[in-house]
Amino acid sequence: MPDAAVVGSGPNGLAAAVVMARAGLDVHVYEAAETIGGGTRTAELIEPGHVHDICSAVHPMALASPFFRRFELEKRVELRVPEVQYGTPLDGGRAAIAYRSLEQTAAGLGADGPTYRRLMAPLLQRLDGVLDVTTNALLRVPRDPVAAALLGLATLEQGSPWWNRRFVGDAAPALLTGVAAHAVAPLPSVAASGAGLMLALLAHAVGWPIPVGGSASIAAALADDLLAHGGTIHTGQRVDSLASLPGRVKLLDVAPPGFLRLAAPVLPERYRRALESYRFGNAACKVDFILSGPVPWAAPELARAGTVHVGGTRAAMAEAENLVAASRHPSEPYVLVSQPSVVDPGRAPTGRHILWSYCHVPAGSTVDMAEAVTTRIERFAPGFRDVVLAARTTTAADMAAHNENYVGGDFSAGLMDIRGLLRRPVLSTVPWRTPLPGVYLCSSSTPPGPGVTGMPGYHAAKHALKDMFGLQVPRLGLG
Ligand SMILES: Cc1cc2nc3c(=O)[nH]c(=O)nc-3n(C[C@H](O)[C@H](O)[C@H](O)COP(=O)(O)OP(=O)(O)OC[C@H]3O[C@@H](n4cnc5c(N)ncnc54)[C@H](O)[C@@H]3O)c2cc1C
Repeated sequence: MPDAAVVGSGPNGLAAAVVMARAGLDVHVYEAAETIGGGTRTAELIEPGHVHDICSAVHPMALASPFFRRFELEKRVELRVPEVQYGTPLDGGRAAIAYRSLEQTAAGLGADGPTYRRLMAPLLQRLDGVLDVTTNALLRVPRDPVAAALLGLATLEQGSPWWNRRFVGDAAPALLTGVAAHAVAPLPSVAASGAGLMLALLAHAVGWPIPVGGSASIAAALADDLLAHGGTIHTGQRVDSLASLPGRVKLLDVAPPGFLRLAAPVLPERYRRALESYRFGNAACKVDFILSGPVPWAAPELARAGTVHVGGTRAAMAEAENLVAASRHPSEPYVLVSQPSVVDPGRAPTGRHILWSYCHVPAGSTVDMAEAVTTRIERFAPGFRDVVLAARTTTAADMAAHNENYVGGDFSAGLMDIRGLLRRPVLSTVPWRTPLPGVYLCSSSTPPGPGVTGMPGYHAAKHALKDMFGLQVPRLGLG
């Protein structure tokens, strides 16, 4: 009988397992897939020698995450920060660009530069307070109320119909909307603007790094540490029932429907009903490319960008995202593009490049958006079609089949609106703890939500250690 069983080896399951194993406990991880990592898997998806991230690709949240900082991820995985963090191409060969430096970014935004600086600088000065809000359960007293208030006010403004109030040009709004649209939510909306401001802030605070070798290197670093501390990982083992799972403590890296499949008959009715009413959001259709050369962006700075938000102006991105929110497929979608070859040329044979992209689609969609994505990139990178050697689509339905936590292809594992952020999956100051003694939820369906942060796993393990063993979180670093 192990001390702890972890179901699922996504970054959160592995983070929980590492914390438990570091505390001296015997930990077993059970993963349904043949490979570990969940949303941090990397594979040769199209041709040998071309290495693609299947899900996550860019890791500002891992770099800023309190868990990964304690774990000293930067010493274990080479996280390369590009010269240009991200950019949004605009017509006329222009682009709005986010650099590490706030000053350099503001200088490129014309008349809106000082406004952008005034929006970001106070948040950047109180980064720890902002991270305290964005990496914990929302239902708690913030450690830095001033940071929380500043973030709240900026979020309300950028998430409201008055979001253009501060701006005179199109570059700064397009830059901010490119990041807010990550949230798969209507635009403007408070959830999208909160997520966007946090990600925009991280570009200036830590950068938007890309791991050498792909996101699987993050999963490998976690697994190596777990194994070094006596843990065991079982792949190809789907857990179907909680009753048959050994372990004094059970940490579940699963979404609410997965928890219901494991334990519905033994869950108290009120909690079970809350899980049954948990809502999922819209989804992504991913398109991976092999290219014969770099993307021929009309705006030359984008050639140095790790991430590009292709969608045109703020209004055009909002139109595309609002169509998805209305369960429609936009003909001109907002496309999120990562160019790993910019910092990690080893992902493809010499002279070749790989490109990672996705656009948002309605939940459960089986539509192949490759043509719409290609046309959208071509608009801001004339000649793009000529460098495409191969492309492979993963529809939203494929994504759901690839990972059962992504219900309908929702890779956030839960709707990104205010209710979905507060009730994740229930309204509680300790939402990781379930009514079943010794059973904890640790997936991104718990706070702080999606992204490779390890924080849901860290929080769940912290409470499990205290509740069940009377232990504190141990040291997690290398030394
Ligand atoms: C296309 C895409 C792009 C993304 N881009 C980024 C990005 O650039 N940066 C970023 O930070 N985040 C990104 N994300 C989000 C990120 O990948 C997720 O938020 C993160 O992986 C969630 O981690 P998790 O551990 O909660 O769950 P997952 O990573 O989803 O892992 C859950 C694991 O549990 C396993 N499992 C579930 N049920 C069972 C069961 N019953 N028995 C055994 N095993 C089970 C699954 O097989 C899976 O391996 C992206 C996601 C997608 C899909």
